[in-house]
Amino acid sequence: MECNERILLASPHMGGDERNYIDQAFDTNWVAPLGANVTGFERDICDYTHAKAATALSSGTAALHIALILAGVGRGDMVFCQDLTFSASANPIKYVGATPIFIDSEPQTWNMSPEALDRAIALYGAPKAAVFVHLYGTPARTAELMDICRAHHIVTIEDAAEALGSTDGGQSCGTMANYGALSFNGNKIVTTSGGGMLLCQDAGDAAHALKLATQAREDAPWYQHEEIGYNYRLSNICAGIGRGQMRVLEQRIAQKREIFDRYRAAFDDLPVHWAQELPGCRANRWLSVMMLDEDARVTPAQILDELERENIEGRYMWKPMHMQPVFADCAYVTAADRSVSEELFRCGVCLPSDTKMTQAQQERVIAVIRRLFSHCQP
Ligand SMILES: *Cc1c(COP(=O)(O)O)cnc(C)c1O
Repeated sequence: MECNERILLASPHMGGDERNYIDQAFDTNWVAPLGANVTGFERDICDYTHAKAATALSSGTAALHIALILAGVGRGDMVFCQDLTFSASANPIKYVGATPIFIDSEPQTWNMSPEALDRAIALYGAPKAAVFVHLYGTPARTAELMDICRAHHIVTIEDAAEALGSTDGGQSCGTMANYGALSFNGNKIVTTSGGGMLLCQDAGDAAHALKLATQAREDAPWYQHEEIGYNYRLSNICAGIGRGQMRVLEQRIAQKREIFDRYRAAFDDLPVHWAQELPGCRANRWLSVMMLDEDARVTPAQILDELERENIEGRYMWKPMHMQPVFADCAYVTAADRSVSEELFRCGVCLPSDTKMTQAQQERVIAVIRRLFSHCQP
């Protein structure tokens, strides 16, 4: 292996069985958005997460879109959405013509702040639905968020796109709210090359999701349509990749957690901190994200520049939604008079978390960062 080979942030990591499932699809000619792999993959996900029902879709974004439709969110409705996240958490709110209001994070898990959620309800009233995220695979303060939403009859949607395999009190992320969304995009902990899954609490909802995702045909001998449908079903080929990936998911989580632990131990003496796993929670540590203390003399930009010079891929934190030009006209609510999401964005840097990265390669990453810190000390 080249000693300067590029080290990636997160890349697809096949387990070996994926091709067998794809071959089965070819052998039976189920090269379509239905077939044994699709239903098998849904079953695998239900078995693994203990979700009541799962619907395989073409993306995590599609899962969030369908969840909002099932939640009854439409034109003119208000939806509270975690501010610090990827834009795909928020875009579907616009697809259904609703208005997002962004809710700040709390500093421990970096996810939706229950205090800010309470404050937003006091300011704007209860929204139709709330979308909270388990960012980078760190479980949110789910029980607190759910209690608040339940008290105000708010439909809850968990964006668990980054959190497959993360748990809270033994429950899988994505199965605690009314609806949960998973993603199998190429950079996620397991991938189908592109895909998603909607998790529902009841079979009726899952049946409706399936209908919406397959052009909303009514049960009639001809093409009968009584609501607007979408072409959102996952292909049987992609689902085959997913079935193979599920067999190595626990192994990937162990690898991600080892990568994270190695960074944390290696930077133990530096002015940095990390997202916290709350008691009873397990984070899948999809990405290792390092937060620089306010008094660190190193910036994320310096770290990313230095990594790039060494042919190592890093990334900024997700940029908060309230700072995005496309959402400039949306309200944003914090718990107090400081913005936690802005602080996290200013001080956070995503480190290479590729499960194909060798320990020697990770040592290279660590050495580059340590060198930068030692040069920047007073
Ligand atoms: C990846 C991701 C999504 C979208 O999933 P896709 O499958 O890429 O559509 C949504 N939310 C978050 C937080 C994500 O990281």
